[in-house]
Amino acid sequence: MSDHKPPPRDGTTHFGFQQVPLADKQKRVAGVFSSVAAKYDVMNDLMSMGIHRVWKRFVIDLAAVRAGENVLDVAGGTGDLIRAFAKQVGPKGLAVLSDINPEMLDEGRTRLLNEGRLDVPPVLANAECLPFGDDSFDLITIGFGLRNVTDKDAGLRSMLRCLKPGGRAIVLEFSKPLIKPLAKIYDAYSFSVLPKLGQVVANDADSYRYLAESIRMHPDQATLKAMMEAAGFSRVQVYNLTGGIVAVHRGYKL
Ligand code: SAM
Repeated sequence: MSDHKPPPRDGTTHFGFQQVPLADKQKRVAGVFSSVAAKYDVMNDLMSMGIHRVWKRFVIDLAAVRAGENVLDVAGGTGDLIRAFAKQVGPKGLAVLSDINPEMLDEGRTRLLNEGRLDVPPVLANAECLPFGDDSFDLITIGFGLRNVTDKDAGLRSMLRCLKPGGRAIVLEFSKPLIKPLAKIYDAYSFSVLPKLGQVVANDADSYRYLAESIRMHPDQATLKAMMEAAGFSRVQVYNLTGGIVAVHRGYKL
């Protein structure tokens, strides 16, 4: 279940289930991803039983990238999405990997280099204030990143600003399961199994507890759609995957 509430106006925000000063969230999120970076890919496969690949494939198909397009992946981490887009844009296009966390970006850069991709610049960037010009990209994606961003509205506005008119943004994120029995099983899995898996594989239960908690605190499908519309996106469509455990939101810049 999503426990998302609008941010309080007392200078605090949530970090998982804890309420923390606004200024602290980014540091704490950085701590989580610096800690998990080296084991991120193997943990992703284990935790989702490989299903994250199917969710990302859905985004890649929905994005329908054409040769020559400019594509930015925000909070791109180890680069699963951008590696696919880099092939599709071809030599006349541009694919950029960005992330706020140097360790995660480094993992992404290494994977790109190992695949011989020297043409994808890695850019250290906060989603809230992307360091790119207005109207620069045909497509901007953010996969499992938005829930970690302190000011999500600023993140969405920043993505909109960097899109060309007619361009599209795609948000892939955990969401609210559509049916109760699924939500119960999912809760049990997230709060019991995930931290244990994190402890055994990555020697880090706390980071995986945060990941489970942060999923619950993230806006549900309708709330995120409204946030995208408030940020200025048009024709926002929502696609539920795996019974709403994950949702994909696509919106356009007019
Ligand atoms: N997109 C990748 C994927 O789907 O495998 C990585 C997702 S990982 C769960 C979340 C990523 O968001 C981390 O790499 C983290 O560093 C990044 N992140 C967190 N806060 C961010 C922010 N404010 N701006 C940009 N990236 C951020």
